[in-house]
Amino acid sequence: MRRSRAFIPTTKEVPNDATLPSHQFLVRGGFINQQGAGLYNFLPLGKIVLEKIRTIVKEELDMAGCNEVQLSFVTPIGLWDRSGRADAMGKEMLRIQDRHQNDFVLSPTNEEAMVELVKNRVTSYKDLPLNLYQINTKFRDEARPRYGLLRGREFLMKDGYSFHASTEDMIREFDLMEETYKKIFTRLGLDFRVVQADSGAIGGEGSKEFHVLADSGEDTIIVCESCDYGANIETIFDNEEEVDALNEKTYEELQTKEISEKCSCGGNLSFKKGIEVGHIFQLGTKYSSALEANFSDENGKPRPFEMATFGIGVSRLVASVIEQNHDENGCIWTKETAPYTINIMVSNIKDETQMTLGEELYLKLLGENVEAMFDDRKERFGFKMKDAELIGFPYTVIIGKELDNGLVQVYDRKTQEKISVKTGDIYKHIM
Ligand code: ATP
Ligand code: MG
Ligand code: MG
Ligand code: MG
Repeated sequence: MRRSRAFIPTTKEVPNDATLPSHQFLVRGGFINQQGAGLYNFLPLGKIVLEKIRTIVKEELDMAGCNEVQLSFVTPIGLWDRSGRADAMGKEMLRIQDRHQNDFVLSPTNEEAMVELVKNRVTSYKDLPLNLYQINTKFRDEARPRYGLLRGREFLMKDGYSFHASTEDMIREFDLMEETYKKIFTRLGLDFRVVQADSGAIGGEGSKEFHVLADSGEDTIIVCESCDYGANIETIFDNEEEVDALNEKTYEELQTKEISEKCSCGGNLSFKKGIEVGHIFQLGTKYSSALEANFSDENGKPRPFEMATFGIGVSRLVASVIEQNHDENGCIWTKETAPYTINIMVSNIKDETQMTLGEELYLKLLGENVEAMFDDRKERFGFKMKDAELIGFPYTVIIGKELDNGLVQVYDRKTQEKISVKTGDIYKHIM
């Protein structure tokens, strides 16, 4: 992409309500903009990052045998009446009415609709197991939408639902999804923990959450320093006020609190703050029973499906990457999430030799399928460099004075190191 043609409205202005780095830098870097409370537009850069994350999620799920579908975002209220969740979901579920006074819901999650889809289409134990997922818009009328993409009202979620003939098989899939989710978050370059969790309004038995470790996280988790045990404090303290009080505390405040208990492995336990980016639940037959979704078992007897459900906050992940990877100047994208890998910058745009090399390098990189941006704007070098810092291109190739000696500079956004390399060796230093 040539920067002169790109729509990347960067700004120095920090939105009034933006307290977190991810919120500030994603808006200032021209990735997203706010449309209303908890409602965000994805601009070209934000859209590229979102698609990259979506693609990684899809690749790993498809490899694990899941099928992608896309359900209607608006669902008739009747479905929710039958499962009993029309009331249980409370005010987060937004209702709307059509011109005939029929009631609908903007999907906050899709257990009911997915059961309805499978019901009478999957009829035999021979057709099981089955794992269906979508990556689709969700709407939750959050009491306090805040922190930009971290807690929106409209957001993008991957929600998956699996159907099984036995509890054992459902648990096998649950474990497989745990492994698959770990692969996804590892590919995204995130530092995360898997923790025991509460099932909340979704219901069901076992449940685990995936937390990106960040001081700004809204959740408090306890992790073992010696093994991979972890738990959301919601599972440890029954008292809701106690949980809320701990969640109010900052990471530093929590470090002064002693945990006298040891982990079962003998290791020390400590408090961490986390952003919930994934949640997997063993549901059992809660929804299949309520909606009378049965299959016939080996003896021809009808039985409700054993189910599990699996969620990932896809748009929340965009912000989570930046909560974990930024400095005072802006975003630092991880390898797989960066909107462009290389930014090409000419230090003196009036110098024809420099401009020609910039152009040549840009076309060469495109030919090699490298995601490159060519900053061909007629602006000051310092201004353009600040802009590149804010956006967070992993590498900027600076074509400047050293060109007379056949050298250009490669700037690494993360380490902030600049090294001089021969023009022919640029590629080698970047990959
Ligand atoms: P939270 O505790 O943060 O409110 P949740 O437990 O209500 O999340 P789930 O029902 O488990 O959310 O939904 C699956 C995933 O969807 C969550 O793990 C999270 O990553 C994402 N998610 C939930 N609510 C939001 C939101 N308001 N904005 C962005 N992502 C969200
Ligand atoms: Mg919630
Ligand atoms: Mg939660
Ligand atoms: Mg959850």
